[in-house]
Amino acid sequence: MAPGPWGGYRNGEIPVSAMVSVRGELFHPAAAAALQHLENQFAAQFGSEFIITSGYRPLGSPSDPPNSTGRTQWGSWNWYRKYGSPLAAIPGKSNHGWGLAADLGSGIDTAGTPQHRWIAANAPATGWVTGRVAGEPWHVEYDGSLTAPPTTEIPEGIAMSFSIVPAADKDGGIWLVPLNGGHRVRIGDPYHVELLQRLKANTGSDQMLLAEVDIALSYITAAHS
Ligand SMILES: [Zn+2]
Repeated sequence: MAPGPWGGYRNGEIPVSAMVSVRGELFHPAAAAALQHLENQFAAQFGSEFIITSGYRPLGSPSDPPNSTGRTQWGSWNWYRKYGSPLAAIPGKSNHGWGLAADLGSGIDTAGTPQHRWIAANAPATGWVTGRVAGEPWHVEYDGSLTAPPTTEIPEGIAMSFSIVPAADKDGGIWLVPLNGGHRVRIGDPYHVELLQRLKANTGSDQMLLAEVDIALSYITAAHS
């Protein structure tokens, strides 16, 4: 899913109930899960979570007073028109209006810092990416199409409830990405094999789940052989 429309909503007019909050800012559910995961990794690396200065940005109205904080898209645009900086998207065109963009602080907002370099290197494995808006190192976007699912041998007639995506990190794990937009799960450590085998033993006659577990097991085995 590249950044763009989802759920039948209009840009900047997405109901709060359709989104998920991360540290007080709202996002598309899959983007939120991935951002929370990235936040956990960042905290493990740098000792504290990063600041999210802006997430979902409602459209607002043309009469909104200029504001630089991204309270509404029209407010940001009116500020840009008046003061010339920072650059704002034309109202209705911002990826903040899809809940698929975030502005980050904590050193990430300055190019060349260890924090920004770490985010640029590690965010893509979660679907978040830097560098989509020139001159805005703080701006990251969620692009679920970054890691295309690999070809898998799926038995005829079996509908998958998740896709399997190789992790981009050096550990060679895989992601199970639910097709309903739920939390993606990273598996791939050898101990997950035992967990999956136990799951398989208790699955009974759910052929779809059995097939998915087999595929997951084959990926882990391939990654560690
Ligand atoms: Zn932004």
